[in-house]
Amino acid sequence: MKILIVNAGSSSLKYQLVDMNDESVIAKGQVERINIEGSNLKQKGADGKVAVEYKEPIKDHVVACQLMMKALMESGVIKSMDEIGAVGHRVLHGGEEFTASCVITEEVKAAIRKYIPLGPLHNPANLMGIEACEAVMPTTPQVAVFDTAFHQTMPPKAFMYGVPYEFYKEHGVRRYGFHGTSHRYVSKRVCEFLNIDPVGKKIIICHLGNGSSLSAVKDGKCVDTSMGLTPLEGLLMGTRSGSCDPAVVQFIANNAHMDVNQVLDLMNKKSGLLGIAGEGTSDMRDIDALADGGHERAALARDMLYYQIQKLIGSYAAAMGGVDVIAFTAGIGENGPELREGVMKNMEWLGAKIDVEKNNFKGKEAVISTPDSKVTVCVIPTNEEIMIARDTLELVSK
Ligand code: ADP
Repeated sequence: MKILIVNAGSSSLKYQLVDMNDESVIAKGQVERINIEGSNLKQKGADGKVAVEYKEPIKDHVVACQLMMKALMESGVIKSMDEIGAVGHRVLHGGEEFTASCVITEEVKAAIRKYIPLGPLHNPANLMGIEACEAVMPTTPQVAVFDTAFHQTMPPKAFMYGVPYEFYKEHGVRRYGFHGTSHRYVSKRVCEFLNIDPVGKKIIICHLGNGSSLSAVKDGKCVDTSMGLTPLEGLLMGTRSGSCDPAVVQFIANNAHMDVNQVLDLMNKKSGLLGIAGEGTSDMRDIDALADGGHERAALARDMLYYQIQKLIGSYAAAMGGVDVIAFTAGIGENGPELREGVMKNMEWLGAKIDVEKNNFKGKEAVISTPDSKVTVCVIPTNEEIMIARDTLELVSK
């Protein structure tokens, strides 16, 4: 069966077509600038070369979806739409209702809509993607895979905030966590890779990209994660501040004459590596180059990131009563040997010792700890798309 994976944003739609016989990616494309001047579609084939490119007005997600179908057919990867067995959608927020992926029904769509206040930027866009696919492929089953679902196994002591309980009950104020599909994939894959049983194992996943989060996984289940009610909590990220004293919001608002929304925008989009280094870049490669060249604020940004990751690893080890495996993933985790070394070189107290030579690579599955290290440290490239495709296949095959 061929499965289409869709990740819809407010003005974009990314897609992949996967052949589930061998899980190979047959085509990968994206529509950008939907309803904005300069809208276009670009699709690459299995060889990674651009196979189709359209530059034309794309007024909404339905037109984007129609164009996606046209591109898939014109490039010859499918002859007709009927070859697509099912569509798997990445959906940001499933609240407490979705602990796993599910087939999309009217009720599921209503629930995704209900959680718009928790995912105000993503859930409306995800819904547009779902409804556009329904309009273009009315008989093809659709599946929703939630970014929050994997973290639903956290116990209340990990997900509750210390605000009055009513705010949890009435408004859903709690930690949800994100990047769940990646944390789920990597926590499973690392056990396959190491040939170990997840049961009885304590694993820390470090998903480090533009957005970053750590999770603590015990017996294959998430017991804690660093992102919270929104993706702003936790680590310093590309443009996000990560955790701060909540009173910082009021303090900046009062002292810099901004309102709460402006401060939140500042903390989400202008902070983190970008805001600390102050050189107009949030890209870790630039931060590394600047820091190595003697740029003090870039070096500070990098030090802050390493330090925060170390503190979180320590706290998750404490929370789980130890750690057996630490896995690095996502853009920086997979491709940044400097970061892995910088973080792990101070973790020998934990029984984690890395081999600096073995660590010197990018983008592949590997163990980077020494044979005598008590904690196995690995790099596992994430693959959220394959997780979405597998969930979709499983649900539509039932
Ligand atoms: P997103 O959260 O948008 O999915 P990614 O997982 O693609 O982000 O990660 C993007 C980050 O990965 C950027 O900070 C980028 O600099 C970093 N990255 C990519 N390649 C390298 C590299 N070779 N060395 C260090 N960082 C890298």
